[in-house]
Amino acid sequence: MKRYESENELLAKEIFAASVDGIIIINDLGVIETINPSALAIFGYTAREVIGKNISMLMPKNHARQHDDYLSKYRTTREKSIIGKGRELEGLKKDGTIFPFRIALSEVKLKSKTIFTGFIHDISEQKQAENILLDLKEKLENKVAERTENLAQVIEETQFVNQQLQEEIVRRKDAEADMQSALKKELELGEMKSRFVAMASHEFRTPLTGILSSITLIEKYDAVHHEEKKQKQVDRIRSSVKNLTTILNDFLSFDKLQAGKIKCKAVHFDFTTYITDLIEEVSQLKKTGQEIELIKNHEVDEFFTDPLLLKNVLLNLFSNAIKYTGENKVITVISELDEKGLKVKVIDKGIGIPKDEQVHLFERFFRARNANNIQGTGLGLNIVQQYVKLMEGTINFESKEGEGSTFKVFLPFYNTQRTNTTDQ
Ligand code: ADP
Repeated sequence: MKRYESENELLAKEIFAASVDGIIIINDLGVIETINPSALAIFGYTAREVIGKNISMLMPKNHARQHDDYLSKYRTTREKSIIGKGRELEGLKKDGTIFPFRIALSEVKLKSKTIFTGFIHDISEQKQAENILLDLKEKLENKVAERTENLAQVIEETQFVNQQLQEEIVRRKDAEADMQSALKKELELGEMKSRFVAMASHEFRTPLTGILSSITLIEKYDAVHHEEKKQKQVDRIRSSVKNLTTILNDFLSFDKLQAGKIKCKAVHFDFTTYITDLIEEVSQLKKTGQEIELIKNHEVDEFFTDPLLLKNVLLNLFSNAIKYTGENKVITVISELDEKGLKVKVIDKGIGIPKDEQVHLFERFFRARNANNIQGTGLGLNIVQQYVKLMEGTINFESKEGEGSTFKVFLPFYNTQRTNTTDQ
């Protein structure tokens, strides 16, 4: 038994001496009774310097006070708030360095007294590593935050660039569409002009040949005996020149319309006087025995629109009625004028328009098959329709081949507020 005890003691001593952790034994007054080499190495003292001294010498001031408080509280209340628990504390080395350690404290009740053993584990390195980790973590977090911010900025910049690119694409598409439509217009105009040249060279030939033969005849007639015949040739020349002028005027109007240069310039004018003058002007074109009768179905005379545009419209309709109607026929013009606007009907008993071709009537260069041997450009009605539109009106017709045609124009009092009138 004795041998067993001394072996036990030996073992305890060995453990005490060889323990890597520091072991300090104090009494209930806090006086250090025993301290192992590891604890001495941790605190940097020799056994002689610490044994018999209060444990508080190994603690920084604030901890030392706490420890004293704790021991005195323990002595009076026996309340063991830290016994048996591991906790982290700070120690004070001989050289004044403060360092962190973990302590496991236990109370040992001997026969004569109570002692406390403290197992001390220096955690400076662990703390240091922890601090390094914390530091690294903080740095990492900062880096992540910084990167996130950079990324957000890059995303924002990318979005901005993307938006600008989108806008640029839209701009380019618009520009391309504009170019395409300009090109299309240009091509149309080019095609229209070459068609006009082809048409004009054909249409010019007839009046020019007419003029030439009339001049030859006039030269042959002597002044006294052939006065009447001479006058007939002069009239032929006049009519041919008028035809040429009409062709050129049609083309010029058409060109101006294409370029958007024609605008409605409305003024107030007396419509009755105006239409009477127009009929007189167009009467020069009448064929033998043709009559133009005007039926005026209104009391009011004042109207408001562009008189130049209207003149072009009505002259075109009147001259067509004359051109496409035979001799000795009556052409009737009916006018109605009230607060809604002006209605003009031009009724002829001429060749009419073949039913199957009527859909093309307002197309440029359209000429019905039954009009082949009558001079014309096929531009007049297209211009008429565009002019009527400029005056915010409408135009339609009824026709039966071989019986005649009726063209109806309606024009409102021009509303200057609705449309912007600028220079023609
Ligand atoms: P143009 O008379 O110079 O040929 P327009 O554009 O005025 O050109 O008319 C187009 C076509 O419509 C004419 O060629 C003709 O076939 C037909 N047309 C126009 N007005 C009449 C009408 N009053 N009677 C019969 N045909 C008409």
